[in-house]
Amino acid sequence: MLIVMKNNATSDQVAAVAAVIRSMGYTPQPVPGVQRTTICVLGNTGRVDSSQIEVMPGVWEVIHVTKPFKLVSREGKERTVVRVGGAAFGGEEFPVIAGPCAVEDRARFLEVACAVKEAGATVLRGGAYKPRTSPYAFQGLGEEGLRILAEAREKTGLPVCTEVMDTDTVELVSEYSDIVQIGARNMHNFSLLRRVGRQPKPVLLKRGLSATINELLMAAEYIVSEGNWNVILCERGIRTFEEQTRNTLDLSAIPIIHDLSHLPIIVDPSHASGRWDSVIPLARAAVAVGADGLIVEVHQNPAMALSDGPQSLKPEKFAGLMRDIRTIAASVGRKAGATF
Ligand code: PEP
Ligand code: MN
Repeated sequence: MLIVMKNNATSDQVAAVAAVIRSMGYTPQPVPGVQRTTICVLGNTGRVDSSQIEVMPGVWEVIHVTKPFKLVSREGKERTVVRVGGAAFGGEEFPVIAGPCAVEDRARFLEVACAVKEAGATVLRGGAYKPRTSPYAFQGLGEEGLRILAEAREKTGLPVCTEVMDTDTVELVSEYSDIVQIGARNMHNFSLLRRVGRQPKPVLLKRGLSATINELLMAAEYIVSEGNWNVILCERGIRTFEEQTRNTLDLSAIPIIHDLSHLPIIVDPSHASGRWDSVIPLARAAVAVGADGLIVEVHQNPAMALSDGPQSLKPEKFAGLMRDIRTIAASVGRKAGATF
């Protein structure tokens, strides 16, 4: 249940409503909003009797949430805009996160970071902790990778995004990174979701390999219920019977999530297709369908990349994609890239 307070409700009136919710055995959770205060009721399993609250001074409207997710639901909250450095996800801009799958070494990362910045990327990406299918594959540089990311931020002025794989490293990753990424394989790791909900940086939450849209939104609910409202969702393809591509990009998730949730949703065409020659067409489609941004893998020498080379764009191809994005973004009422 959501209780929407009047524009001129006093803090005493808000506190009185919260006290009644507590006396009913539930938890009141304030929903951040620019125009008015909304309080979400947590802890109920069925419909709550709202008759006592409806007549309280300062209460404008009581909304019975019909979805299993409450805090991330669009019911009762305006769209969330997640701001990171100069980038904004969920507003008029169309931010693009770009960089290699993994931070492989200092010189190579700084070089590709400058190239993607030059092309107009808004945020740098690069994994320091890599979830690999094989334990013998390159696992990432760990903390050294985080230090290289921080140096690249200094050099380019762009914020950075990197994945956290377990609860033990959340504090460290959160110290270095501007966006903390939860990978597809960890979307169901509820203790990790709760932990990133208690750190201050925005979270990029990727859809699980076989997760439904509802499961993705419930995973986001775990993060928000711990107090972190800055969640960016990411559609990165789901497993289907198709074998020509690594995954199948579910573009229909974008308008559906916009209908269900106030959170921004971006698209990862790289992991969705697994092949560089599909990345640009899929990225164009993502802009056209109304996504709130992109995350794209770029490597200066994909053939030698330590992970995900086959799906990585060379910097010149990425620059071409940024030009395409600007054209398409303008036609759907958006602005693309830091240097637009
Ligand atoms: C990645 O972004 O490099 C990655 C591992 O993505 P996903 O979790 O979507 O597979
Ligand atoms: Mn990757």
